[in-house]
Amino acid sequence: MVHNNSISLFNISKNYPVKQQVSFFNFSITKILTGNLSILDKARIRLLYYGSLLAIVGVGALFLNVYLQGLQVMTTTSLLVLVSIIALFKYLTFKPQWRTISHLLLVIGTLLNLATVFIILQKVDIVTIQIIILIIVFSFYMLGQSWGMFYSLLNLLAVLVFMIITYDHNYFVDFKPERPDDSTTIIAIFANFILIIFIHSHFYTAFLKNIKQLKDTGEEQTALNIKFEKAIEKAEKSSQAQSEFLSTMSHEIRTPLNAVIGMSNLLLMNSPRPDQSENLEILKFSANNLLAIVNDVLDFNKIESGKIVFEKIKFNLVDLMQNICGGQILKAEEKGLLFKLDVDTTLRRKLVFGDPTRLTQIIFNLVSNAIKFTAEGSVWVRVTCLEDRHNNITVGFSVKDTGIGIKQENLNTIFEPFTQESITTTRQYGGTGLGLAIVKRLLELQGLKMYISSKVNKGSEFSFNMEFAVATGDVMPTESAAAKSAPPSALAAGTKQQFINKEEDNPMSGLRMLIAEDNPVNVMLMKKLLSKWNITPTIAENGERAVEILQYGNFDIILMDLQMPVMNGFEAAMEIRRMTDPAKANVPIIALTASALFDIRDKVTGAGMDDYVAKPFKPDELIEKIQNLIPTVRY
Ligand code: ADP
Repeated sequence: MVHNNSISLFNISKNYPVKQQVSFFNFSITKILTGNLSILDKARIRLLYYGSLLAIVGVGALFLNVYLQGLQVMTTTSLLVLVSIIALFKYLTFKPQWRTISHLLLVIGTLLNLATVFIILQKVDIVTIQIIILIIVFSFYMLGQSWGMFYSLLNLLAVLVFMIITYDHNYFVDFKPERPDDSTTIIAIFANFILIIFIHSHFYTAFLKNIKQLKDTGEEQTALNIKFEKAIEKAEKSSQAQSEFLSTMSHEIRTPLNAVIGMSNLLLMNSPRPDQSENLEILKFSANNLLAIVNDVLDFNKIESGKIVFEKIKFNLVDLMQNICGGQILKAEEKGLLFKLDVDTTLRRKLVFGDPTRLTQIIFNLVSNAIKFTAEGSVWVRVTCLEDRHNNITVGFSVKDTGIGIKQENLNTIFEPFTQESITTTRQYGGTGLGLAIVKRLLELQGLKMYISSKVNKGSEFSFNMEFAVATGDVMPTESAAAKSAPPSALAAGTKQQFINKEEDNPMSGLRMLIAEDNPVNVMLMKKLLSKWNITPTIAENGERAVEILQYGNFDIILMDLQMPVMNGFEAAMEIRRMTDPAKANVPIIALTASALFDIRDKVTGAGMDDYVAKPFKPDELIEKIQNLIPTVRY
């Protein structure tokens, strides 16, 4: 059994030869204690060195003693042992391979033990017991548990066998046992005791040193841990500060953007002159672009900090794809590209569960890129039902273009945040290099993979497969009904918008709405927008005013800005929910927020509000949320 952990108490590391070459005539221990040796290995080498010297003295004395008594076999044996120990000692000072030397010494010891018991003396006496103890102690300390057990049992069992044989039988070998006098026994006992004491004291010191080293290492580790904890705390604080900074920045940027986009929308609705309309379109386009960049940065931050939660909402894939591609078709046509949207017809009558907002984000990014990086030819979006297992389906999404393509070696790097294929891309096409990073992370978080194939100047294809649970028994009856249940999308436009613009059909007409908003530009924008739907809202300039106004009037819905002076939206909502009149306490509240706080949904619902819309909000999204909360406002 070999452990290589250098701080383990029972460390038996490998028998590394010392790297530095030592001369054959070396006798110094310091020269063989160099190299990368642990405390215990050094102790082992020292034990062999000094132990051998002690053994040489002991066995030498024994040799003289038996020689003088004329005991031939014992003289030869002790001489052999003496020469072997001297040879091993020399080998040790040349190459300190303590493991090999220990094995050789143990083999010699075992042979000596067996020879004395079975042949030379043919008896077991106190010296035999001492030799066995010596072998046990030496083998365990030097070679560890397995070898320790092996040599100990070998010697013990052999002696035991001898004792059993001689218990009530005559033991006979063709050799007359030698009988040394008491002086030999005294020398042997004395030498053995000295060796046992030496081995123990030596290892005790080594263990103590090792324990001290362990303690020191432990203390160092504790100090390091404290340093690490501090560093982690610092990093967490700075990441939190970064998130807060982004959130504040987003609020600061989105608020004026809200006004710019809203104003241009309103002006465009008022039939401007063609030249004004063109300028307004540019204004709107740039503001939307800026908003997209702000949103990308925020989204990426949100994804990276792992704060993203995927929804499971019922929706129709065909409608969603049409909504996403609706606006993109125009963009493609403006560039003279052919835009094809192929959605598997089997998906038309199915409602699936998933996160339409995130799916929109993925497809929208891919399609925008396809149009952006294609000068001529076509963009082809395909949605195929790959597998239909009754209550769940696997759908393949693919966005293919005939654009500039991507070099093979850049296929991985373009998914890195803030990375574009080349500096020319940045100059020619703009962008932040975040789109694909967001797409990749959004897929990865759902356990999905993006596949990409591309050829320079030929085009690219981005594809992925996604599984959806199917709402069974909830089949969509007609197309127009299906359109209503589709979620708002980033590009929501079309049928619903046109429908609402017809005032006479508008079920929101006359809705009693209270708006708590402190920013006069936003108030003006909302008033103008709502006037299109025949709604005249009551305005409260802060949360406290909103609570007051609600006490004296009745409202169908409240739109609550969150950041307001005097009393903010959260506090105001909580006040309202505490009102005694249930009609007032339960009035639906939609939060209006320009902040992109990660846990905004939890905070909003925590304060008793029903839903929220992010500013600058899309008219469609607001209508959708109002409809969800007030059943009478349904088409
Ligand atoms: P951005 O579009 O803001 O540059 P993305 O992360 O969406 O950032 O894309 C990263 C880069 O990948 C792009 O700058 C472009 O070099 C390359 N790329 C992405 N989609 C395509 C495509 N359809 N055709 C060619 N190159 C593409």
